Amino acid sequence: MTCKGICARYKAQKPVGVGRYASGQRRCQICEIFIKWEGLWCPCCGYRLRTKPRNLKYKAKLRARVEADSIAEKALADTPIADTPIADTPIADTPKPKKSAAKKSAAKKSAAKKSIPIKA
Ligand SMILES: [Zn+2]
Ligand SMILES: [Zn+2]
Repeated sequence: MTCKGICARYKAQKPVGVGRYASGQRRCQICEIFIKWEGLWCPCCGYRLRTKPRNLKYKAKLRARVEADSIAEKALADTPIADTPIADTPIADTPKPKKSAAKKSAAKKSAAKKSIPIKA
C-alpha cells in the first residue's frame, strides 16, 4: 500500500469551472493525487479511491465563512464613512421625546385608574 509512482501516469489536471470529483476524477489518499481512473482502486498503490469530497458540510461551511468574511470586510471598509454621521448626531435629543411620551402614557394610565372608581 505505497505509492509506486504509477499514478503519475494517470494524474488528472485540475478542471476549470467543475469540481474534480464532478468531472470524474478520483483521489488516492496514499498517493495524494487526483487521477483519471475508472476503477475503484488505485492502479498505483491499490488503495481504495475516493469518488466524493470527504466532507461536503465542512466545505460548504468553509465557503460560507469565506463569503461572510468578504462581507464583513466590505462592512468594515464602509464603517469609517458611516460612523462619522452617527457619532455627530445629537444622542441627547433622542431620549427626550421618548421620555415625554412615556410620561404622557403614564398620566393617561393614572387618569384611567382614577376614572374607574368614579364610574363604579
Ligand atoms: Zn501513487
Ligand atoms: Zn494510490
